[in-house]
Amino acid sequence: MISLEDALAKVLQEVQPLESEGVCLWDAADRIASDSILAPIDLPPFDNSAMDGYAVRAQDVQSASPSSPVTLSVVGEIPAGSVFSGQLGVSQTVRLFTGAILPDGADAVVMQEDTARTVDPRLLLVLEPVKPFENVRFRGEDLKKSALLISRGQVFGFAQLGILAASGIESVRAFARPKIALLATGSELRDAGQPLAKGQIYESNRIAIRTLLDHSSTDSKVFPLVTDSLQATKDALLEAFESCDAVISTGGVSVGDLDFVKQAFSDLGGRIEFWKLALKPGKPFVFGKRKSVPFFGLPGNPVSALVTFQLLVRPAINKMRGMISWRHRITGGVLAEPIKNHGDRRHFVRVKVDEAGRVKLAGSQGSHILRSLSESNGLLDVFPGESLAQGTTVSVINWD
Ligand code: AMP
Ligand code: MG
Repeated sequence: MISLEDALAKVLQEVQPLESEGVCLWDAADRIASDSILAPIDLPPFDNSAMDGYAVRAQDVQSASPSSPVTLSVVGEIPAGSVFSGQLGVSQTVRLFTGAILPDGADAVVMQEDTARTVDPRLLLVLEPVKPFENVRFRGEDLKKSALLISRGQVFGFAQLGILAASGIESVRAFARPKIALLATGSELRDAGQPLAKGQIYESNRIAIRTLLDHSSTDSKVFPLVTDSLQATKDALLEAFESCDAVISTGGVSVGDLDFVKQAFSDLGGRIEFWKLALKPGKPFVFGKRKSVPFFGLPGNPVSALVTFQLLVRPAINKMRGMISWRHRITGGVLAEPIKNHGDRRHFVRVKVDEAGRVKLAGSQGSHILRSLSESNGLLDVFPGESLAQGTTVSVINWD
């Protein structure tokens, strides 16, 4: 049996980021930058107004007050996107709107609320002074041309895509999205919608894992159910290895006579790196590679499959998609009841953290118990023999 740390280190050593490719910005959401990106232009690209108001020379309105306004002559108007071609002279002003380019000669903006109009539309009364550069947004104030905009390994999230679009970038280089094969083995398994004969159960691992894979922005390819025979397992695995960047299967990795996954993988030329984890749930777990394609043979028990996926497969897939340092999201909380690990393997216990940060067991902890999985929002890592008293501050590994 291998420890979780050693298993994870081995997995991360064996999997590598995929090739990079050019993608349109609109298709880049949640992908990972393969190249750093420098700002191609200054942002904003020109000095502009932060307010709806009037462009002025600050020195002209220094003495303005409500009881003694300064009168300026209005020589033009600049909506956002337009340009005032002239030069602002002494005691002149130009009306402008938020984002409009500052006219030559002006060095400040008086906001509309600090002005009054007269019966003569060509005159403006300024009621408050402004300092030089007040209400002006400067060219390059947000981002200077050639500054580092995105670094390699960074996720293209909503805000990153926003600033890239604001910089006029229409396509980027990103790591390819991993195509992941997802198989479930077991002659007892049926798809929902089919009648169940005696001894059969509905299959649930593929959809649960597919959903977690979707959170990691991958393309999953869900295969039909695989019966427990060496040939059927080899046929399905071969197709998976030939068409995908990584292969995940569930079931058939234990010590039973009908557990053919390891055998089928080896027969296809796969090299097993390790089998069996010192972990609960999730002891039977096989990891290996066939050519450059990693293989994760997860246990069939739904909880074991999801826990091992979360602890070992997810970090690997995030590395494949180009993330440099990925960590599970953690929620801090305080134990509302004592939790003890009586066993000799690290136990990842299904827990529920409520809004007040109280952490409770999510129910019965058998590896076949789906109910406590669906009641949980994360996992608590409890070491062999460890006894955590009520009131202990703990870190819960979130599912998402
Ligand atoms: P195995 O790892 O193949 O020995 O399966 C262990 C247990 O998990 C058995 O009770 C199986 O019926 C069950 N099981 C295996 N695969 C699935 C699956 N995809 N969905 C639901 N239960 C499964
Ligand atoms: Mg089985």
